[in-house]
Amino acid sequence: MSRTPDYLAGYPPALLAQVRPLIEDGSLGERLARRYPEAHTVRSDGALYEHVQALKARHMRSSPPLAKVAYDSALQRIHQALGTHTTAARVQGGQLKAKREIRVAAVFKEAPAAFLQMIVVHELAHLKERAHDKAFYALCCHMAPDYHQLEFDFRLWMTLRGRPAPAALPGQAGGPLSP
Ligand SMILES: [Zn+2]
Repeated sequence: MSRTPDYLAGYPPALLAQVRPLIEDGSLGERLARRYPEAHTVRSDGALYEHVQALKARHMRSSPPLAKVAYDSALQRIHQALGTHTTAARVQGGQLKAKREIRVAAVFKEAPAAFLQMIVVHELAHLKERAHDKAFYALCCHMAPDYHQLEFDFRLWMTLRGRPAPAALPGQAGGPLSP
């Protein structure tokens, strides 16, 4: 038995009632492709690192440095997340240093450019705001003014892909994409 993936749990029923017919008649994929025609060329971990650093330099210059940024094909399957940010403490030269990492699910390699931007903005915002609260989403919207639309459309896109929904996607509108 497979569980019905639900990336849309928690959005207002009226909103979902608008998109359900588009899912059922098969026109949603075309609409999303028209709305997000732009692919990206961020295919490697090195390119992703540069991409994240550029956004960070533009919007979050004062946030702590990132030690690593990488695509992770195990993220969805094993950690049931689409992106993660971690801070590992390690001793270096007799000092305790924080090593920050951002990982992005491999599915974003083939996603439209706007969706990659959405997950990068999400994980960057976590450098400053840990919880998925008002301050967190304000920061997301500062970096990507249409953040909420992007997240909703990305969830529609994932729904069409029919992949298992990560457990970390909770039942609330605009909920977290990562633990
Ligand atoms: Zn998150």
